[in-house]
Amino acid sequence: MTRRVNVGGVPIGGGAPISVQSMTTTQTSDIAATVAQVARLEAAGCEIVRVAVPDMAAAEALPAIRKAISIPLVADIHFDYRLALAAIRAGVDKLRLNPGNITDPACIAEVAEAAASAGIAIRVGANSGSLAPLYLDAHGRASVAGMVESALHEIRILERQGFEAIVVSLKATDVRMTIDAYRAIAREVDYPLHVGITEAGTVWEGAIRSAVGLGVLFAEGLGDTVRVSLAGDPVEEVRAAYEILRSLGLRSRGLDLHVCPTCGRTGIDLASIAGEVRTALADVAEPIKLALMGCVVNGLGEVRDADVGLVGSKGQGSIYVAGEVVAAAVPEVELAAEIVRVVRGTIAERKHA
Ligand code: SF4
Repeated sequence: MTRRVNVGGVPIGGGAPISVQSMTTTQTSDIAATVAQVARLEAAGCEIVRVAVPDMAAAEALPAIRKAISIPLVADIHFDYRLALAAIRAGVDKLRLNPGNITDPACIAEVAEAAASAGIAIRVGANSGSLAPLYLDAHGRASVAGMVESALHEIRILERQGFEAIVVSLKATDVRMTIDAYRAIAREVDYPLHVGITEAGTVWEGAIRSAVGLGVLFAEGLGDTVRVSLAGDPVEEVRAAYEILRSLGLRSRGLDLHVCPTCGRTGIDLASIAGEVRTALADVAEPIKLALMGCVVNGLGEVRDADVGLVGSKGQGSIYVAGEVVAAAVPEVELAAEIVRVVRGTIAERKHA
């Protein structure tokens, strides 16, 4: 078991639920846009948010952002340790330092001392794309050993300052390399692990690569907090993270949607209905399992195991709650709206139960 590190009231490690993080894509100096994006991320279930701090203008925006949001705020720092000091003064809950581009032990020690006084955590975040030359292999490429050594070097500097509120990440674009790097660092230290596949891609390929890599790690018990990196709306990162965690029974939140792939037996446009329902219920935070099935073949079994279910037939479908029919022979055009109504009603009833 890893140690536990507190990040603005959210525990990371030591058996705490795996927390879901994301990172804003706005200019951090644009306070209004950043706060608005954080609000959307929080509504989607994001529990810790990171913002880029590339310059002093971004650092100066941090106090206002911190004040306007309610989830812990992490400052992402590269190259200039003075930005880390400014972020600490601004009241952030955690720093991410890149051991590849802030390498001077004296500077790191100064940041550690300030972070310790402020009572905040530091993530040592090594990345295959930004390792210091010292840690690249003979061909100038990143390796598992190089990533681990780079992270350990910075961890040891922090430890020499008596600083132990450390979280570690070793992200690579290569899924196998990422898996091996986390396995290797977990043999060396017991600090909590922030896991992710870096630069994974747009939502489609990024979600798949992340699911493969993170799925292996989580199944092995590695990983205490997660950020799924996707190019696109960061809300998708949060959704993808929960879907990965839900697949392994590690977290449950919102709609747990199961849809049959459809086949020649399907008599309704099930994929469109599923898409409509999914969009309409995107705001649901309560865990609820919904099974949308094209016909009775697997439908009757699936709806028995779901909170709400649909079994389609030609041009219509029947809706079930806990395996019991609540609306029979609903015409296809009304199915999506009716399913949404039944799901919301089921959630409301649970709340009043
Ligand atoms: S549940 Fe029915 S419609 Fe869906 S894939 Fe299976 S046989 Fe086809």
